[in-house]
Amino acid sequence: MATIVRPEVVTYHQYIDGQWTDSDAGGTFDVINPSTEEVVATAPAGGRADAQRAIAAARRSFDDGEWRNQTQLQRSQTMFAIARHLQDRGDDWAMLEARTAGATIRKASVVDVPLAVETFRSMAEQALQIPWYEPLPWIDIPHVSWNFVQREAIGVCTGIVPFNFPLMIAMWKLAPALAMGNSIVLKPSPFTPLTLLEVARAIDETGLLPRGVLNVVTGAGDDLGEELVVNDDVDKVAFTGSTAVGRRILALAAPTIKRVTVELGGKSANIVCADADLDVAVDGTLFGTFFHQGQACESGHRVYVHDDIYDAFMERLVATAAALRVGDATDYDTQVGPVISRRQYDSILAAIDRAQAEGATLLCGGGRAGGAGDKGFFVQPTVLADVRPESHIATDEVFGPVLAVQRWSDPGDVVRRANRSIYGLAGGIWSRDTRGAIEMAKQLRTGTVWINDWHLLNALAPFGGYKQSGSGRELGAYGLREYTEVKHIHVDQNVPREDRHFYDVLLG
Ligand code: NAD
Repeated sequence: MATIVRPEVVTYHQYIDGQWTDSDAGGTFDVINPSTEEVVATAPAGGRADAQRAIAAARRSFDDGEWRNQTQLQRSQTMFAIARHLQDRGDDWAMLEARTAGATIRKASVVDVPLAVETFRSMAEQALQIPWYEPLPWIDIPHVSWNFVQREAIGVCTGIVPFNFPLMIAMWKLAPALAMGNSIVLKPSPFTPLTLLEVARAIDETGLLPRGVLNVVTGAGDDLGEELVVNDDVDKVAFTGSTAVGRRILALAAPTIKRVTVELGGKSANIVCADADLDVAVDGTLFGTFFHQGQACESGHRVYVHDDIYDAFMERLVATAAALRVGDATDYDTQVGPVISRRQYDSILAAIDRAQAEGATLLCGGGRAGGAGDKGFFVQPTVLADVRPESHIATDEVFGPVLAVQRWSDPGDVVRRANRSIYGLAGGIWSRDTRGAIEMAKQLRTGTVWINDWHLLNALAPFGGYKQSGSGRELGAYGLREYTEVKHIHVDQNVPREDRHFYDVLLG
């Protein structure tokens, strides 16, 4: 396995059954720096056979039981030791996220790497509180028996990860799966496979995880990704990505009735009330939208501004948005980096054009960000006003630095408009009236609501979507439970045959 962040193109390998391996078919793909369009690394183009090898390794390790049969305390302590090593090894990962995911180096070093390591540690800690055994009350119908619930690891889990937060979202799957005693095969996005491979390398260095418990395969979604969903030896699939692919995952998982959690797209509504603190609400709205170039699933791309403060709010919002520094993600001065790919860049610019054709007014941005030459996928932070509720820019996920603004005056109406979406991932309210904001939050049909803040997820709180933003939850105790099965065990109390009246329904 090669070391990271070198100027030359680095060759990476998949991590299967404790070995670094090429793909079965021998092919590779290039990993591109979206700021420069240069090739950073190559990784194996895994296919069905690679997925099958990794799943077989995970199955064997799970069935051997070396990891799953440890006590919770042993497993958590092992994970704490691994977390300390990840912390030591994580220094280089921020630059790698910047060079491959286009995460600004500020964001990668302040948010991605520390939170990824903390998630790993925290899930191990929270797992100590999940009961593996829950006694049920004695019951005497039809006669006395002793009943309890036994919680168990699910088995072989697969985790399919999107490009936008390669390190963090991989940890959201890896940490709870390991904490609850499972084996896992992870597939990063082909755009951003490197940091997860580095995590696997760091874990491998500790020698603390039994062979085959963690596997990482690299490649496209088609054959490789689909095998991770359909394979009979897979017990649970944890998918994060677009709603379109999520629908396909659910269909593929149906014939084998897999346990599936899907964390999908969003178009979150950001409601700015008349009594909002403008200093916080303007910067918070910008943070909620342009952080990571708007490529966060729970970004607040639909902004509803109250009539009473509309002019003052918009003036400040547009002035600040227009002044954001767009550039190479590895430069500490950069506030907004590139989007992930040429295709994504083209689709964002097309969405902006279409929004204007559908009546929206362009207040800033709208095109390629200058100053970075002709290389790199840089889109100007864009603000569109006069957005019609039924227009595409108001309803479709764009996944770029594009903010679509509507006005409001009636609270019932703005809640109705906020909820009129196929998505339900997150929402936000800016107001000094905390009680009123909580009442409004309860009416939003989304898995997360921020009041006077945005993007602040934490390892204790469940994260997931209503409606077509997903099914199931990640993080917190809710997320840990998604990696377990529960079994009811009924223990007869030596009731004599003559008292077993239910048997007489058949035999009497
Ligand atoms: P994507 O759906 O294109 O790909 C996600 C992953 O699925 C990748 O690893 C890809 O290779 C794989 N994949 C693609 N087709 C597959 C198939 N047929 N079978 C199995 N795997 C397949 O998403 P993306 O472009 O990488 O990420 C952006 C999307 O992810 C956005 O829609 C965003 O909202 C969503 N997202 C959601 C959350 C959340 O928690 N709800 C978090 C981050 C991103």
